[in-house]
Amino acid sequence: EALVLLVHDDVSGCGDIVMDEKNKRFTLGGKEYREGDYISLDGSTGYIYDGVIPTVDATIAGEFGRIMGWADKYRRLKVRTNADTPKDAAKAVELGAQGIGLTRTEHMFFDPDRIAAFREMICADTKEERIAALAKIEPMQRADFEGIYEAMQDRPVTIRFLDPPLHEFVPTEEADIRALADAQGKSVEQIKAIIQGLHEFNPMMGHRGCRLAVTYPEIAEMQTRAVIKAALAVQARHPEWTMVPEIMIPLVGEVKELKYVKDVVVKAADEVLAAADSEMKYKVGTMIEIPRAALTADEIAKEAEFFSFGTNDLTQMTFGFSRDDAGKFLGSYYDNKIYESDPFARVDQIGVGKLVDMACKLGRATRPDLHLGVCGEHGGDPSSVEFFHKVGLDYVSCSPFRVPIARLAAAQAAIKEEKTEEEAAKAAQVELEAKVAAAKAALKDASEKLSSAAVDASAELKDIAQAGIKSLLAGWEEAKKTFGENRK
Ligand code: PEP
Ligand code: MG
Repeated sequence: EALVLLVHDDVSGCGDIVMDEKNKRFTLGGKEYREGDYISLDGSTGYIYDGVIPTVDATIAGEFGRIMGWADKYRRLKVRTNADTPKDAAKAVELGAQGIGLTRTEHMFFDPDRIAAFREMICADTKEERIAALAKIEPMQRADFEGIYEAMQDRPVTIRFLDPPLHEFVPTEEADIRALADAQGKSVEQIKAIIQGLHEFNPMMGHRGCRLAVTYPEIAEMQTRAVIKAALAVQARHPEWTMVPEIMIPLVGEVKELKYVKDVVVKAADEVLAAADSEMKYKVGTMIEIPRAALTADEIAKEAEFFSFGTNDLTQMTFGFSRDDAGKFLGSYYDNKIYESDPFARVDQIGVGKLVDMACKLGRATRPDLHLGVCGEHGGDPSSVEFFHKVGLDYVSCSPFRVPIARLAAAQAAIKEEKTEEEAAKAAQVELEAKVAAAKAALKDASEKLSSAAVDASAELKDIAQAGIKSLLAGWEEAKKTFGENRK
């Protein structure tokens, strides 16, 4: 029987695990697990099960397929996926994804083939050395993108450029440090000094995202060439498709930094296209994941052809707490009814949502055809999807297995809105009828008052006339009398 243990926050962290990394073991729920032991994770609930739980592949068929078909008829929001591999991309298509909203390119660098070249790039002393190391990665990255484009079969694909801080790529184990030193022709001490130099107190607010491309534009150049060359190759294999690569610059907070990186991208892309004599179109957009980007979205939209809201970072930077550490104190916030739910799972509509809404309006005021999406984890959360529908995004993007729930939530949001429109029309009709009835009643009352006033008025007139006649007659009698007396 499976042992069920509740994981705090979600499957990205579990404070109850006591890790003994050195001895390759951990304890959880009073049990010790060693390297090679199995546990099973339920990604939806965050439960950990002891041992291997048999699973079946998620597919859309039968009744489920019918419901999904109905959902697609009603929804306005498109549903894309966050996928970094052709396998995930293909699975997402099977589950109904209409494109990729986020490919995190850094995951590809962790592959054992590439990590060596990437570390070489990090340890390089000169730009030339960095370019030489990056040249080794370019064909591999290009092959990754080709695989993803093929899996998506002509659907739009947004590729995000390198985002994490470089310290995530350097070795920590002594043996790996020594191997890197040997490969680089450097001493172990020199490599350790480089690693030490990458240390940051707040790496998530440090040298990452587009800041990497500002300091090392050659990384963005390499990634651009890989994206465009991959698209050209796939276009040549599939002339019936229309490849329009979408390049996304992360962690932008200032239009000038976006412009700086965009110029690097455009130059590299145009060179590749010119060399291939191709007129293929491509788009350059940005993530809106720093509050300053949302606040200056009108400026940012001058340079960005699309926005994708990175609500993971936007939540962490708006609340001022890290997604990796919040699990430690959020429990007390729920217990004390300060927060109702995890803001990293369900978007905070009041604060973060206000920034999203504002950025949509500001962005579209500058560029009416600005394409808007969300690729934070919230893109697969039903109540957040409803919110994104209301603020007018074009699509949500979520992990492959959340695509069906996002499709359903998008349809429910559209139906709810339709219903509220219907209800509003009904309410307006009732209000109009009530107003017409009140006006009729007022009219009737007024006409009754008018006619009774007319009756009163005519009675008064009669009295006046009679009094007048009376006084005329009296005057006549008086005159006759005076005349008679005068004749005498
Ligand atoms: C985000 O910040 O919402 C996002 C999608 O990017 P990442 O989670 O990779 O920082
Ligand atoms: Mg982010």
